[in-house]
Amino acid sequence: MINLETPRKFRGLVQQVHDVAEAFLRANSRKYDRAEHSYPHELDLLASLVDGMNDSGQSQGAGASGVRRDPAEEDSSVVHNGSNMSSVLSIIEMCWGDVGLLLSMPRQGLGNSAIASVADEEQLKRYERVWAAMAITEAAVGSDSASITTTAVKDGDHYVLNGEKIFVTSGDRADSVVVWATLDGSLGRAAIKSFLVSKDTPGIRVERLEHKLGIRASDTAVIVLDNCRVHESNLLGSPEIDTKGFAGAMATFDNTRPLVAGMAVGCARAALELTRELLEDAGVVMDYDRPLVAQSHAAASFIQMEADWEAALLLTLQASWLADNRRPNSMEASMAKAKAGRVGNAVTLRCVELAGTLGYGETELLEKWSRDSKILDIFEGTQQIQQLIVARRLLDLSSSQLR
Ligand SMILES: Cc1cc2nc3c(=O)[nH]c(=O)nc-3n(C[C@H](O)[C@H](O)[C@H](O)COP(=O)(O)OP(=O)(O)OC[C@H]3O[C@@H](n4cnc5c(N)ncnc54)[C@H](O)[C@@H]3O)c2cc1C
Repeated sequence: MINLETPRKFRGLVQQVHDVAEAFLRANSRKYDRAEHSYPHELDLLASLVDGMNDSGQSQGAGASGVRRDPAEEDSSVVHNGSNMSSVLSIIEMCWGDVGLLLSMPRQGLGNSAIASVADEEQLKRYERVWAAMAITEAAVGSDSASITTTAVKDGDHYVLNGEKIFVTSGDRADSVVVWATLDGSLGRAAIKSFLVSKDTPGIRVERLEHKLGIRASDTAVIVLDNCRVHESNLLGSPEIDTKGFAGAMATFDNTRPLVAGMAVGCARAALELTRELLEDAGVVMDYDRPLVAQSHAAASFIQMEADWEAALLLTLQASWLADNRRPNSMEASMAKAKAGRVGNAVTLRCVELAGTLGYGETELLEKWSRDSKILDIFEGTQQIQQLIVARRLLDLSSSQLR
C-alpha cells in the first residue's frame, strides 16, 4: 500500500531544505527577477553545500542526479522511499523559495538528470562534477521531439554535430550540454541519440539569451553546433540505431516529470500561504467544518484551491514513489505533471485575484509566482502532451495510433 504522508526519514531533510530555500532563494527572489541575466552568485555557496552533502551521502541523493533507478531496488517485494522521493520533496521546498533560482543551481540541470537516467557506470563517474543543460528543442521542433533535425555524423571515433537548439535552460551558465541529435534523419526516433558536449569543445557556442515572462533568474539560451566534434564515448546510452535507445532517452522524463510537478506544487504552496495570511488579515475566515456554500466566496475559493493543490501533491509523490520502487510510472508521471502544472497556473493566478492590488503589485511576490508557474505547464512536455500520454496509456494505443 502507498502511504502518501511525507516519509518520516525525510522530514529532517525537508526542514533543512526549507530553511535554506528561505535564506538563499526567497530572500533573493525579487532581486534576480529584476536583474535578468545577471549571475546569482549566492547560489555558489549553496551548490558547494549540496555537493558536500552528496559526497557524504547526507542528502540521500536529493537533486538532479537523484533520479537514477538503482538496479538493487528491483525486488518489488521491498517497498521504500528513495532518492526520487527525496529529490521531489527537496524541489518542492526549493520552489517554495524560488523556481528560477532552483533552475539556476549549479550541477542540478536537466542534463544532469539525463546523465543519471541513461549514462553507464563509467560515464557516471566521468561526469560526476559536470553541470549539464539539456538541448532538445529546435526552432521547428518542440513537442514532437522525434522530429529533431540536428545531425550527428560518425567520423572515425568522433561524431560531428550540426544544428541549432533553442530555449536551453542554463545553456549559458552550465559547463556542458546534453544535445539530442539524429544519426539518420530518415529513420525517425530510432536514430535519435543524446551526446554530452562540453562547452569548451570547438564548434559549440551560445548565440543569445532570451528575455522571458517568468523564471527570469534562470538563463535560457540559443545554442549553435557548427561542425562540433565530440568523442564517441560521449554518446549516452547505446550507439545502435534502434527504438530502445530513444525509449531510454524518453524514460528520463518518467523520472524528471515528477520533479517539474514538484516545482509547480512548491510555487503554488508559496502563493497559497501568502494569500491565506492576506485573507485572514482582511477578516476572511476559512471554516473547514462548514459547507463551502455557507462561506464567503473568498473562503470557498481558497478551500477549493487547497483541495486541488493537495491532489497535485499526492499525484507527484505517487509518481516518484513508483520510480523509487522501479515500477512503471510513465502514466502517473504525466498525470502528476498535467495536474500540478494546471493547478500551479490556476492557483497562482487566482491568488493574484484574491489579493487584489497586493496581488498585482510588486510589493508582494504573488504576481511573480503567477508568471513563474506558467513555464511548469510547458517545458518537459506541455499540458496537452501529458494528456496525450495518459490517453495512450489508458487506451493502450501507440504514439503513431494516437497523436
Ligand atoms: C523558459 C523555457 C525553458 C525551456 N527549457 C528547455 C530546455 O532546457 N531544453 C529543451 O530542450 N527545451 C526547453 N524548452 C522548450 C520546451 O520544452 C518547449 O517549448 C515545449 O516542449 C513545447 O514546444 P513548442 O514551444 O515548440 O510548442 P509546440 O510543440 O509547437 O506546441 C504548441 C502548442 O500546441 C500543442 N500541441 C503540440 N502537439 C500537440 C498534440 N499532438 N496534441 C495536442 N496539442 C498539441 C502544445 O501543447 C502547445 O500548446 C523551454 C521552453 C521555455 C519557454
